[in-house]
Amino acid sequence: MVKRKRRALSAMMVMVLSISMGLNAGATSISDAEKKAGELESQKSAVEAEKASLTDQINKITTQMTDTQTKIETKREEVTKAEDNLISAKVAENTQYENMKLRIKYMYESGNTQFVEMLVESKNLAELVSTAEYVSQMSSYDRGMLTEFQDTVAEVTKQEDSLKKEYNALTGLQDTLVTQQAEVQAVLDENNVKLADLESQIGENAATLAQLQKEAEAAAAAAAEAAAAAASGGGGSSFDSSSVVVSGNGEFTNPCPGASYISSEFGEYRSESDPAHKGMDFAASTGTPTYAAAAGTVLIANYSSSAGNWVVIDHGNGIVTKYMHHSAICVSAGQTVSKGQQIGAVGTTGYSTGPHLHFQVELNGSAVNPRNYL
Ligand SMILES: [Zn+2]
Repeated sequence: MVKRKRRALSAMMVMVLSISMGLNAGATSISDAEKKAGELESQKSAVEAEKASLTDQINKITTQMTDTQTKIETKREEVTKAEDNLISAKVAENTQYENMKLRIKYMYESGNTQFVEMLVESKNLAELVSTAEYVSQMSSYDRGMLTEFQDTVAEVTKQEDSLKKEYNALTGLQDTLVTQQAEVQAVLDENNVKLADLESQIGENAATLAQLQKEAEAAAAAAAEAAAAAASGGGGSSFDSSSVVVSGNGEFTNPCPGASYISSEFGEYRSESDPAHKGMDFAASTGTPTYAAAAGTVLIANYSSSAGNWVVIDHGNGIVTKYMHHSAICVSAGQTVSKGQQIGAVGTTGYSTGPHLHFQVELNGSAVNPRNYL
């Protein structure tokens, strides 16, 4: 009977869950919330993979930028050095020019004054050289030296230009890298926003799911209670094995304090087949709780064609109690019960003409008057 009741309960729970899912069709059902959780997790995984890829790109760009920055600094030092070299070369060239002018001036001091003036007034080297070409007396040494210094200036200028171009190329590359980094960072920022949004959605969905599950559990619990009440015959009682109901001052507690009256005493003549009633009948409405008369071990808790749903308890010292015709039983064979613990609910199962508890006490296998113990 207990097993049958459990099956009924689980069937009821399935029904309640189905109903709850049916009623909550849409974004708020458990199955939808679970499905959504799966989708969100998969989206999150995709975004996380994208994030990993973007972070990898950023890291590569950053490494390249660091490398380029090192090259830029080296190149800048080279350019600075070339600039210094150019200045030195120009100083050497200019010194040669000034010395040459002095020598030429000295050479022609007492001669062609017009020519000396020309030299002194020369705006630049080219003009001077061209003028000097006409000076046959000008030493070939001075001309050679001047050309050499001019070549040095030209060479150093060329080097400096080349270095500056390299430097510009590197700074250009660095600018490109900065732009790239900013672009990837922008995508990464968007990605992080997406991820945060997904995480918040996942959190909300999990909360919704938890709430739905809580509601379903509450509904199932309510259904279970209703099922228990229904199983006990609709009398409105529910099993409560956690508290005990003890009444009277006897060795035994009243097994059915909710009974309205005793419909049959022990030893009463009932019929030819049952000339002496072996127990006491507690007339009570279906569902009225029945209690263990004393502490003991449940020997039997099942259905019998004559006793109906019955419970037999062994109390030791040769004393056994029997409880018959239950609509439902809430104990199992083998379990121990305490005095006043509910064992079932009144019914009229088995050989019975109306709802009542047949309570029987046996001492060493023979039925005795329960009133001796109550
Ligand atoms: Zn009886």
